Amino acid sequence: MFEFGIIDAHCHLFTSDNQENISDVHRYLHKAKSNNITGFISTALTKEELVLHEQNKFQEIQFIAGIHPHYKNTSINDIYFIDEAARNKSIIGLGEIGLDGRFENISKQKKILLAQLEIARDFDLPIIFHIVKEYYNFLSLIKKTFPKTRGYIHNFNGSLEIFQEIRQLNLGFSIHKNLLKRKRNIQIINAIINNCLFFFETDAIIQNNKNFNLHQNELVSLINDIANLIGVPFEQLIYLQYKNINQIFEHQL
Ligand SMILES: [Zn+2]
Repeated sequence: MFEFGIIDAHCHLFTSDNQENISDVHRYLHKAKSNNITGFISTALTKEELVLHEQNKFQEIQFIAGIHPHYKNTSINDIYFIDEAARNKSIIGLGEIGLDGRFENISKQKKILLAQLEIARDFDLPIIFHIVKEYYNFLSLIKKTFPKTRGYIHNFNGSLEIFQEIRQLNLGFSIHKNLLKRKRNIQIINAIINNCLFFFETDAIIQNNKNFNLHQNELVSLINDIANLIGVPFEQLIYLQYKNINQIFEHQL
């Protein structure tokens, strides 16, 4: 269970690319305290990243693992370490997994996604989804195969129509600053906050201490901007997100 405060619902705190990562994470958490950021849902996209998470446990960091639809160095064979992590209860969910229409191998992506949906069902784990362009394909796949899947779409950037469809599946939405770029999205943001399980995220990749302030200030100002945009107090948004995090990961936290 996280201490009460602001949670970053999707980020990457341990990446295999960065040797300096462990001390960076220590510094990142120290900085977070002063910003009232008390929790992070971090993502492991390779076996190496999962091991880094497992070996460096912090109360503030909970982690998920998954085969991303287009991350370098991942393959369907990674399904074994995802399964093992789910079985050992070392992860609190799967992700970020999904479909990415910027790449042409959609049928391969679907296979990888299905195998992971099955693991999530078997171990009753929530999922953080990465969906780019392929929202309708994603919707029909979930409806046909695992309609009881729970979790949230990270960095949601679809239309109001797509939002309404996803809402029917009872999935939540994690808001990244990208969604605030278009004025017309205010309707979607309003609908998400008032009707769905909602979350806030940076999708930050911790690589060096230059971007520490940037990411954390980004999270705080994202919530502030939403509060001003839709007229809900900042403190209430933090309280509700904290409640939503505990609800979606209720069997894990
Ligand atoms: Zn991400």
